Amino acid sequence: MEHSYESVLDAVGHTPLIRLTRVTEGISAPVYLKAEFLNPGGSVKDRAARHMVAAAERDGTLRPGGVIVEGTSGNTGIGLAIVAAQRGYRAIVVVPDKTSTDKLAVLRAYGAEVVVTPGGLPREHPEHVSQLARRIAEQTPGGWFANQYDNPANPQAHVDTTGPEIWAQTGGRVTHYVAGIGTGGTVSGAGAHLKGVSDGRVRVIGADPEHSTYGGGDGSPYYVESIGHYLHPDTAEDVWPQSYHTGVLDAVERIGDREAITVTRALARQEGLLVGASAGAAVAAALRVARGLGPDDLVVVLAPDSGRNYLSKYFDDDWLLRNGFLDGDRTRPVLGDLLAGAPAPAVVPATASTAQAREEFDRTGAEVALVVLGRTSAAPLRAAGDVVGALRRDSLKGDSLDGDSIEPLIAPALPAAGIGEPVDAALARIEGDWFAVLADGRVRAVLPRPA
Ligand code: PMP
Repeated sequence: MEHSYESVLDAVGHTPLIRLTRVTEGISAPVYLKAEFLNPGGSVKDRAARHMVAAAERDGTLRPGGVIVEGTSGNTGIGLAIVAAQRGYRAIVVVPDKTSTDKLAVLRAYGAEVVVTPGGLPREHPEHVSQLARRIAEQTPGGWFANQYDNPANPQAHVDTTGPEIWAQTGGRVTHYVAGIGTGGTVSGAGAHLKGVSDGRVRVIGADPEHSTYGGGDGSPYYVESIGHYLHPDTAEDVWPQSYHTGVLDAVERIGDREAITVTRALARQEGLLVGASAGAAVAAALRVARGLGPDDLVVVLAPDSGRNYLSKYFDDDWLLRNGFLDGDRTRPVLGDLLAGAPAPAVVPATASTAQAREEFDRTGAEVALVVLGRTSAAPLRAAGDVVGALRRDSLKGDSLDGDSIEPLIAPALPAAGIGEPVDAALARIEGDWFAVLADGRVRAVLPRPA
């Protein structure tokens, strides 16, 4: 029986390649998208989940009646929940508190238990998603920590399935393979296979958010989910996952949030392909690469999941406007019109002394400073996610000593609005006498509420 499977686990993989025909205008090399959102759990991570569980069953670390534990905000948890359901295991998934309620509902629908922990913690913190998952696995009888970041069965899933599928589907004609780098399993596993079967001819390109440390960014927050490497400023050492085999990659393309989101939306509207922004970033990288290629080349780009997971983000104009990813309709004045002559915002690390803060106020002439997590190699504009509070110049007055920490003086972070938001609408929404203006999710200016 063709296309019939003995269980849902056998239905993982075998995803089609779909040629892009409109976003590729002006490009002569064919570009095919590997549609991983068609997996049973809706993402490429079904492959890794199935492989990790199979390997753990083989080596005896996961035994009948055991408990699968993982720390993840999304797709790996769903993949593991499916495998757990089908194979008769309990699944416990630890998620950061910003995870959407829809995702939690999906996990629970498959019967997984969900444990919520604060997001944005340094990697060493005991409540960090991975640390907590590891501890729960250790303390639960029969517990097994899947650990996609360092589990060799994660990249191996792509050596064994994704890579061979791409080679067979293109009849060995693939010349370039492009995928986002999250744990690194997808790009380096399939990449290693394709290099091996092609005698090194296939070029492997990773797509990485501009601010991620994989491609050389400072690790500050970005908006494309599930790829890249965020670095909390208090993290002592920037440790990369063992699932990411950097030597397999020929290049890493750094993609800004705005470009990734723009391509994501174009894929829906011009190709009829509703994919997530990690796919948008990968396609953006693939288009860059393909522009320099000819008709004898063949690019395969991997789309990890569906845009349905992000309808309230990348496909929501209000969300885009509020975070500064849209320029507005220009029929009425927008916040960007108020920026002429606005100075770069004053920035004070949360650990600064009042003397250091005073210096920054004197240097910039600002009345209100952004209080940020300390980040030594920060990009010129601060990521909204790095801003933890506000400090007013006038709060430094009085008898405070210059050696003192600013800590007791830190006020809550300013309200923020996007650069393309109409002025009247933004002012109706935000409260307070000062506010931050975001462009591409970064603070472009701090402005007083206009009279
Ligand atoms: N995109 C999405 C939507 C994902 O869920 C993941 C997995 N975290 C990735 C990209 C990256 O894949 P990998 O972990 O294999 O690098």
